[in-house]
Amino acid sequence: MNLNQATFLTSAPNLSRCPQGSIAEVAFAGRSNAGKSSALNRLTGINGLARTSKTPGRTQLINFFSLDEHHNLVDLPGYGFAKVPLKVRQQWQQDLGKYLREREALRGVIVLMDIRHPMTDNDRQMVEWSRWSGFPLHILLTKADKLKRGAAMNSLLKVQKIIDHEFPGVTAQIFSATKGAGVDEARRIILGWLTE
Ligand code: GDP
Repeated sequence: MNLNQATFLTSAPNLSRCPQGSIAEVAFAGRSNAGKSSALNRLTGINGLARTSKTPGRTQLINFFSLDEHHNLVDLPGYGFAKVPLKVRQQWQQDLGKYLREREALRGVIVLMDIRHPMTDNDRQMVEWSRWSGFPLHILLTKADKLKRGAAMNSLLKVQKIIDHEFPGVTAQIFSATKGAGVDEARRIILGWLTE
């Protein structure tokens, strides 16, 4: 299997409308503007697969990309965008929780965080939920090219410290969609989960 086989499958407004038939999927979650679409495009090598956001937080759809008949990548809506009405955000939290608890095909969650301000309250909640649901979780610290190497490593160390104290078992790495840093490592983890 190869991530560059990804093609758009469908958008679902909620869990009950998610496509049936997949046996393994990996979900991508992150704050609006964290770089989730750019990461999906880079990881698959397909420009324009996931739309990079002009209006963060607008679409509250779960987007499915199929790798083959039984394997999907799942783009969860960005969270934590202040301009999204509270009611919409609350509904989304419910849907997200339900997806994580009930989606049988889910094999792991990639959480994207801007390397310059990782582990916001929303990020922590996302990590908590995934752990309660019992999935492996891997963090991509995105836009690493925006920091010098030393500063990027410091951010990773800080995140790793938080993980050691609060979220044992979670893993993290540096990532840049623009420069390609960490792409191979992230691909290995995703393909490992999908083919386990
Ligand atoms: P999403 O809302 O999480 O899907 O985020 P996007 O992928 O749309 O990215 C948000 C903004 O960050 C866009 O302006 C991207 O061009 C920018 N961005 C995303 N990834 C990177 C990266 O690796 N490096 C840099 N410098 N900018 C990035």
